[in-house]
Amino acid sequence: MSKTERELREDIVEIGRLVYQKGWVAANDGNITIRMGRDRILATPTGVSKGMMKPDDLIIVDMKGNKIEGRKERTSEILMHITIYEMRPDIFSVVHAHPPVATGFAAAGRPLNLALLPEVIIGLGCVPLADYGLPGTPALTEPMLPYIPKYEAIMMGNHGAVCYGEDVYKAFFRMETVEHFARISLVAELLGGPTVLPRLEVDKLLDSRTRYGVKSRAGAQPDCPVVAEDLDGGPEKFVVTREELVALVDEAMRARGVA
Ligand SMILES: [Zn+2]
Repeated sequence: MSKTERELREDIVEIGRLVYQKGWVAANDGNITIRMGRDRILATPTGVSKGMMKPDDLIIVDMKGNKIEGRKERTSEILMHITIYEMRPDIFSVVHAHPPVATGFAAAGRPLNLALLPEVIIGLGCVPLADYGLPGTPALTEPMLPYIPKYEAIMMGNHGAVCYGEDVYKAFFRMETVEHFARISLVAELLGGPTVLPRLEVDKLLDSRTRYGVKSRAGAQPDCPVVAEDLDGGPEKFVVTREELVALVDEAMRARGVA
């Protein structure tokens, strides 16, 4: 039932082509991996377009990131993939890309954390934003560490996004949901601002996960997603009685010497 290495190589080539055609990467950006067994990771190499790969271009690295098979060189972002595999034994594939609208949100310092769309709440909970970290160094992964156990899609500050799942298709579809959500959020903002769903509706959606067979861990975290009550109960709004309001107005008038 499990796929052969050849089939997994073909899966990565197919997903690479889709990621490129969708415009989520430019030039040689992005990387895709599949964990095969305990200590073998099938990975896209550095320096190639992810839209134009052949199955034999892929390389195999161990869980320390050392190349053990393949002609081409490994990507410096492989350490981020390995960290995710180490922290999440349930994960077998990682997709990293720079989808432009979601990356725009990341570059603006804006997480995609509002409760807006049923599919996103069920599938991802919300998409947190990890602070920027220098690519090719442990600093890239450091800000993501608190989020990796709790989410399956993370935005990377001033960089892009990473999604992961039980197989490469699930990881890819999560990236597609992130970018689609970013596009819809942007349009909602242009049209006067999104209407955020209340807690009751968010809880119903999270409860429906078992019905849809969704295994995501995300969604039960405070403020992720942010629900309507989180906004209404914020410091901008408060409730006063009629007498309190009259007293406040009186006080203001007296302070100005009017009354
Ligand atoms: Zn990148």
